[in-house]
Amino acid sequence: MWDAIVDVANVCHSEELYPIGEKGPFLARLDAVVHGWRARHGADVRIELVADKALLHALDTTDKRELQRRAARREVTLRPVADTLVLERAEADLLHVLSGDHFLDFRRRHPWIEAHPERFHHWYQDAHGVHFVPRGIGPEHHQRVSRAEEIKEFRDKHLDPARHPEIMNTRWRCVDSLCLYARMWTGRLPVWPRVDAGARAVCPGCASPLRALGPRRPTRQVGLADHATGESIERLPLELGSNLVLGRGRIVNGYNLGSRQDRFGEAVRYVSRQHVLLRFAAGRAGGHVLAVDLGSSNGTEIERWNGSAYEPGRALEVDVEEILTPCDRLVLGGGVRVEVSGRHFNADDLPRITDDSGGEATRVRGVEG
Ligand SMILES: [Zn+2]
Repeated sequence: MWDAIVDVANVCHSEELYPIGEKGPFLARLDAVVHGWRARHGADVRIELVADKALLHALDTTDKRELQRRAARREVTLRPVADTLVLERAEADLLHVLSGDHFLDFRRRHPWIEAHPERFHHWYQDAHGVHFVPRGIGPEHHQRVSRAEEIKEFRDKHLDPARHPEIMNTRWRCVDSLCLYARMWTGRLPVWPRVDAGARAVCPGCASPLRALGPRRPTRQVGLADHATGESIERLPLELGSNLVLGRGRIVNGYNLGSRQDRFGEAVRYVSRQHVLLRFAAGRAGGHVLAVDLGSSNGTEIERWNGSAYEPGRALEVDVEEILTPCDRLVLGGGVRVEVSGRHFNADDLPRITDDSGGEATRVRGVEG
């Protein structure tokens, strides 16, 4: 039996598929994988497709319409979080799972995963088509998971835009096969790297040197804070033309606020698995940042800055894109504050760091864009 279920967003984002190394997502990658699976296991195998809803917002217009058409014809199931359904269906019907994921968060709830590594497949593509290889599901060491979660990354980053512009303007990837960050983010790291004593970019998760993936496009910075205290907890780069999903739990192409549970504490309690999507879209005047609530359980509020004060929060409508102007802020599930800096990071216009928070966190100030 070679019936299978496909984690569609995961496939569409996979840089191991044509166009190799391109960030995507591309719907053509899904077609290549489905075609490859049928070519290998027979035209009559049943293939179920499940996609994260966030994928709709990440695809270009043509692919987005095509995915909506397929969803309307029930060829693809759209879910706020695909992997829950992927695993339930795979368990119930003994399906093979085509996903780049290691399903680390699900090992306790789905003990069959570790008992059946042969049912999890990854892929690569060459001139002969798509090939499938074992995903390499192995037992996870919970010690390692918790150690990675304990790392107080931001305070230890030593990343200074004035001294390390080349590090800030480069995309990075961790290639340490044992690193939790490398396994969570098989493409580029969504967080800033750390800088070691030798001024090298190192992984905030495992401290090994990172592999450079090429220059960043113009980048803005997303700040995450505890809404109740205003305490800054994490800063993330957001590149022109790219998306960032914020939520709690492991997220493909996103950032898991639960990984900073040590700092957020109660603030993340009402954040959903896939809560909000941010996109730095191209446009006149250097582009703008859009926010979309992905159907979170406890909602996202936008607080507009009117020049002298924040106006009362207003709930974002689910699946509707809203433009964030500099100084506006979002509040996720009542607890986590999200602000997008109006500053642009690029080699010609570097912000300066001043430490005005008692050494607790590094604050970046710069030219408003
Ligand atoms: Zn690492």
